[in-house]
Amino acid sequence: MPLFLPRALLQPRRIALAAALCLASAVAVAQGTPLAQRLAEIREINKYVPERALPMLQAMEREARAAALPERIEFLNQLSQAHDGLGQNREAAALADELVNIGRQHDSKVALAKGTLRKGYMAFHQQDLATSHRLIWEAEKLAQQTSDTELRVRTMISSGESFAEEGNFPAALERLQAAAAFARQHRDPTQIVMALNALIRLYGQMREHAKGFGILEEALETAKQGASPGRTATLKHAEYGLAIDSGQNERALNALLDSLAIERRIGATSMIARTLINLSDCYLKLRDYPNAARYGELAVAASRAQNHAGREATARLNLGQAYLATGRLLEGKRHIEAGMKAYDNLGDKPELQLVLVEYGQALERAGDLAGALTAYHREREISNELFEKRRQRAVLDLQEKYETEKKQRRIELLSTEAEVNRLQQRVWWLLAAVFGLASIVVGLLYRKVRHANAALYEKNKELKQQSVRDPLTGLYNRRHFLDYMRNAPQPELAAKGDQCGALFLLDVDHFKNINDTYGHAAGDAVLTAISASLGEILRETDMIVRWGGEEFLAFLPALPRGGLDEVAQRILNGISAVSIEHGGHTLAVNVSIGYAPFPLSCGGQVLPWERTVNVVDMALYLAKAHGRNRAYGVQGFGDPAQVCIDEIEKNLERAWRAGQVHLSVVRGNVLEQRASA
Ligand code: GH3
Ligand code: MG
Ligand code: MG
Repeated sequence: MPLFLPRALLQPRRIALAAALCLASAVAVAQGTPLAQRLAEIREINKYVPERALPMLQAMEREARAAALPERIEFLNQLSQAHDGLGQNREAAALADELVNIGRQHDSKVALAKGTLRKGYMAFHQQDLATSHRLIWEAEKLAQQTSDTELRVRTMISSGESFAEEGNFPAALERLQAAAAFARQHRDPTQIVMALNALIRLYGQMREHAKGFGILEEALETAKQGASPGRTATLKHAEYGLAIDSGQNERALNALLDSLAIERRIGATSMIARTLINLSDCYLKLRDYPNAARYGELAVAASRAQNHAGREATARLNLGQAYLATGRLLEGKRHIEAGMKAYDNLGDKPELQLVLVEYGQALERAGDLAGALTAYHREREISNELFEKRRQRAVLDLQEKYETEKKQRRIELLSTEAEVNRLQQRVWWLLAAVFGLASIVVGLLYRKVRHANAALYEKNKELKQQSVRDPLTGLYNRRHFLDYMRNAPQPELAAKGDQCGALFLLDVDHFKNINDTYGHAAGDAVLTAISASLGEILRETDMIVRWGGEEFLAFLPALPRGGLDEVAQRILNGISAVSIEHGGHTLAVNVSIGYAPFPLSCGGQVLPWERTVNVVDMALYLAKAHGRNRAYGVQGFGDPAQVCIDEIEKNLERAWRAGQVHLSVVRGNVLEQRASA
């Protein structure tokens, strides 16, 4: 790492020199030497005397740019470094970018690491420590993937120093010890000294001076074995740092003087300026004010020659103190005021505050109490200003913290909301699933109910059928007929014209004999055969009813008015013609029939259907009484004035004989000897 400006606590100001010096003047880069070797030799010069390295690099630019990739990369790296060392940031940045691009193009980790490391160093120069550290650590990772030992050691050292700058001393120590171990493995004295030098400075920062001095011994021994003299100068500066911090001012002074001698030998003017500042500081500590003033003057001149405002300010502050101590009050105040003004211009308020404290004390010692008071007031002013700034910073930090927390809470809230949304969604899905399932269940239930309803309907239909049908014969039962007659509109005689309805009532003759002779089942078979036969004899529109045991009623809604006898005949003949095979027997039966037109009127009065059925029943009875296998039909009534329907109902035969009623008689066929009847 290039030099840093440590906080000088109280009294004289110094600048620590992290840079090593090389004997640049001693390096003769011969033209015949291979490019890689020439570049390696320039590297040491470039690191500490960039103004000398730059023209050397520029001289080989054409050759280097046309060279193989490794040389080209190292050349660009050094050219960037030289520009950077001379404060030519734009050129340095462009070359670092070029390196990174080459790294990407050629997939070269070396180029990427070198380019990134250069960017990291440049960010450091621009006080952007965070960016610097990030880039350096990135470069370290890239470098570790290469076999470039020097690059690896360098990035490890820079990485350790970055950790130290962040106050992470354990990590810094680990990195720097690793760098030293790695360098020792490769036995390169320069690399070992580089790593040990960084380690010594770290021990200094950690106030572990004894450890620092221990490492210093190893480092100086290694430097003797082959590192450049510049590295020894670097180590002398490290020794100065340790010594001054541990109160060994004499040792510190000697180390600086050794370093200055080397710097002067190699003509490194920029280095000399910094060493002079530190020498002035060191003499102030030793209260050797004449020497402090002498080196102070040299330091001011050297810094001014380099046009380095910050360094000149520090040099003038040291010089001013030396003058004050030697009684040159006005000159001293002038230099200190100028130094403070430069600090103010550079915006280094904390440093300015410290300077004012020291300044006030120095003025007090010099007897300028008024000046001391003024310095004190200015110091207070800056202190307040800084306090205010710190307070504002604290408020800003608090605000930021609050905002961050607010954001965090918002994020948490959002995530909670998201969680709630997720839960809500789940609930919806669950509801949908439940609804879906419920729909399926309802659907299934509905189907089941529908099926049940259909079954019920069928059952009802069946039941209804059963309620209107006779189970044995399948004919309508008596209840159905009664219902029908009760609900049917009363028939009107006139509307029928030459058509009329008719009621026929049949009773099987001697049916009991069949049951008794052939069994009840034979009787059933006979009844079934009669009903089937009636279905064939009569029309489909006629209603055939099983009236009772072996009695049948037929209601014929429409037939020619004179056709009743013929129907009676057909029934008598049709049924007697039926042969019923049962149990190896052939059975045959006759029936007796009573019949009448329907509606039946008497004296212009239509008889109620119940009365008509009664009259027909009487006619059937007459047929039975007169020999069976015959039909007696009511044709009409006699003189309405003499007719009494009650009488007729009670005794049809008497009424018939009295002429109150006209009957027709139809005889059935005489049965052959097929069945006993
Ligand atoms: P008639 O010529 O005077 O009518 O004599 P009948 O034997 O037919 O008359 P009766 O009234 O004495 O006998 C009717 C018999 O019919 C009595 C009864 O047991 C029988 N019967 C009634 N319903 C059924 C039935 O559904 N199946 C069977 N096998 N027999 C029945
Ligand atoms: Mg009977
Ligand atoms: Mg009978």
